[in-house]
Amino acid sequence: MSEEFTSGTIASPGIRIGRAHVLSRRNPDIPRYFINTWNINNEISRFEEAVHSTKSDIETIQRQVAITLSSEMSDIFATHVMILEDPLLVEKAKDIIRREQKNAEWAINDIIVEYTNNLEASGDDYLKERIVDFSDLNRRIISNLMNHREKPLMDVSEGDILVAADFTPGETACMNRMAISAFVTDRGGRTSHTAIMARALGIPAIVGAINATASVKTGDMLIVDAIHGRVIINPPEEVLKEYKQYEHDYTRIEAELELLSNLGAKTSDNEEIFIYGNVEVPEEMKSVSRFGAHGIGLYRSEFLFMGKKLPDEEAQFQAYRTAAEFFDPQPVTIRTIDIGGDKIISYTESMKEKNPFLGCRAIRFCLDNEELFRIQLRAILRASAYGNVRILFPMISCVGELKEAQKILSDVKSELDSAGIAYKKDIKAGIMIEVPSAAINADRLASYCDFFSVGTNDLVQYILAVDRINEKIARLYNPADPAVLRFLRMISDSAARSDVPVSICGEMAGDPVYTMLLIGLGFRHLSMSPAFMYQVKNVVRSVSSEECRVLAEELMTEEDGDNVRRRIYEIYDRRFNSFRKKA
Ligand code: PEP
Ligand code: MG
Repeated sequence: MSEEFTSGTIASPGIRIGRAHVLSRRNPDIPRYFINTWNINNEISRFEEAVHSTKSDIETIQRQVAITLSSEMSDIFATHVMILEDPLLVEKAKDIIRREQKNAEWAINDIIVEYTNNLEASGDDYLKERIVDFSDLNRRIISNLMNHREKPLMDVSEGDILVAADFTPGETACMNRMAISAFVTDRGGRTSHTAIMARALGIPAIVGAINATASVKTGDMLIVDAIHGRVIINPPEEVLKEYKQYEHDYTRIEAELELLSNLGAKTSDNEEIFIYGNVEVPEEMKSVSRFGAHGIGLYRSEFLFMGKKLPDEEAQFQAYRTAAEFFDPQPVTIRTIDIGGDKIISYTESMKEKNPFLGCRAIRFCLDNEELFRIQLRAILRASAYGNVRILFPMISCVGELKEAQKILSDVKSELDSAGIAYKKDIKAGIMIEVPSAAINADRLASYCDFFSVGTNDLVQYILAVDRINEKIARLYNPADPAVLRFLRMISDSAARSDVPVSICGEMAGDPVYTMLLIGLGFRHLSMSPAFMYQVKNVVRSVSSEECRVLAEELMTEEDGDNVRRRIYEIYDRRFNSFRKKA
């Protein structure tokens, strides 16, 4: 019998078919016993040795990752080492051994279970994703205490699809790209370490497929369709056959498309389309430049703020400067923090709101927390001395808000001037157009900023009143709805009339299915995750801007959004011989 999951998040795109290898977490049975008073010092030494060995195991992985992947990725393990070096954790365990006379395995397990329970109860997705780090450390320390050396990935055969509740960063980093063809996890979101690693390694992956480990057995035949976000278990023969063809086509197309990275992105009638990258974590920058993009169209700076501690001005400056220097002279568009909505950081944990997407989010949060905003602006301005940095304000909904943000920016510039600190004097500051009021008032807003970047992810949710993260109503979330098309046309016309450059950076810009439509609506600058650039460039190079214009005009006359969507998919499938199934 075949079964299908559709609830997973695509961490890294692709299609793979293979046998499942379910990685069961063989958490060792934890021995629990009391220590005699005269043995307490020995027990503490045993614990210290295990912590020491765990630290050196992790440092070995960290070095390997720095060589085989990148130094940024190896930083994930620096966090593990930091946890191990945290005197609170180590001293607390020793204290339990000393006072409660519990053995070392029992003591450390009690502490980590308490930590992970607190993380689970936090309701904060980012903090919850750190549970896997703590559990990994717990297992490693206990294995070292018990002299178990676990090698969970060693018995995986070439071409296997790994299925697990989640992977520890160590496991993901050790995955040999040639051996493991894809993976699926119960937990995790787009920002989890596992998802980040998957993208960086180019391994197709679906995360957050809630029941995966409960439903899949080792040896099951699996189809991982990380184009549509599906996992199919033991598919019937005809589905398997169909997907084998898709997999084959996808691999061939990927290889062919790779050749596009050195070619320009011009339509057949010579209109240049500028492709930029969206980045959340520094390791994505390399992919953006490898794909031959024109720079960064959206640097989601809030991801720097998702650790326990807020980054100070210096840490932010270093991160922004690295990006600026890496892409110079190409633009690096740094969006000031967009937190709130589904992006909660430790700082805002207490800020529970009934309607967070309509609440104190993005620029609203920054204007309410001016000091934090000023620090970020100082860091961005200082980094602008090292490259072509641009500033992007998120979720602007009215002129007053934009004026306030610009006033603070100009105050911060004056501070830097007085202190003789260098920055790019003609730095451009733009706004996200992602709220209907901003789209309607775009001509007015244009007088107070240098460019627009359309955030279709939010714009669609606010126009259609469809929560972008609610699976129950996902089918109503339609970027091809006539109302959305009208808004997009209005924004593009407004920008042209006001002579303000406009780009699109929502997911729609990276979905090749919509490329013709967006060109037809007048957009020439598209910013997207690097994983989608080849496909978009392929469309750009195969069409003329005139036929896109005619298509957009025609689609604008449709009344029904489902029809528009169906037609867009049909055209894409027909024109680009797509492996993508019907919507
Ligand atoms: C958007 O809303 O389209 C966007 C790019 O911003 P985010 O997805 O970060 O809200
Ligand atoms: Mg947005």
